[in-house]
Amino acid sequence: METKVVINTTSSTEKGVLQTAELYNYVMDTSVYPREHECLKELRAITSTHPRAVMGTSPDVGQFMALLLTTINAKKTIEIGVFTGYSLLQTALAIPDDGKITAIDVNRSWYEIGLPIIDKARMTHKINFIESEALPVLDQLMKDPENKGTFDFAFVDADKDNYANYHERVLELLKPGGIAVYDNTFWAGTVAMDEASVPESKLASRKALIEFNKHIAGDARVQISQIPLGDGITVCRRN
Ligand code: SAM
Ligand code: CA
Repeated sequence: METKVVINTTSSTEKGVLQTAELYNYVMDTSVYPREHECLKELRAITSTHPRAVMGTSPDVGQFMALLLTTINAKKTIEIGVFTGYSLLQTALAIPDDGKITAIDVNRSWYEIGLPIIDKARMTHKINFIESEALPVLDQLMKDPENKGTFDFAFVDADKDNYANYHERVLELLKPGGIAVYDNTFWAGTVAMDEASVPESKLASRKALIEFNKHIAGDARVQISQIPLGDGITVCRRN
């Protein structure tokens, strides 16, 4: 019979992980907003009037992504789920001038909302935007030996039902040591709630993310860390 060993009874809140809204605001006001690029601020401001503004990547997640990108000297990246381009611009700003981002989204009109600001930041030349469902594009990329195992970084932030499918393809595309970041792996905290208390609108993606989080935790091909930034991110390093 399996014995449950309790090693440490200290809860995460006792350890001080985002105990209060004030602490979150403190982090944003002290460490995130003062260092946010002017064009990222502008993109966020324009996006804030959009009916689906909530989809924009949280600036603390963006800041951490930029740190990862520069730490690994990322040059060739892929982004699945662009919306108005906050994380895309963040990535473009963090990679070198000859870096390239393959950015995929089913909706080009949302990307075009942010495009004038990406132009203003002089980052457009780094971006290959593909208007499409992501899966067929990833399948196509995988067939090309020039792409397989060559990407330094991936940011996955599209339909949550497909995260496990994206993961399989992203792993093929990343080079060993490459990093993938999956956004929203807390799904507003619902992954740890009783199903009965979860709003109907969140149930399907919650189920997909619970399965994805479990799957990736058991995936020996990657090293992982699930981090409480924004709505939760899972950072994976391909072994
Ligand atoms: N990363 C973006 C940002 O920083 O603002 C937010 C992305 S938003 C949460 C999700 C995006 O995924 C939407 O723009 C949506 O059109 C796109 N999307 C949803 N399903 C998709 C699919 N199957 N293939 C490609 N894009 C998809
Ligand atoms: Ca997101």
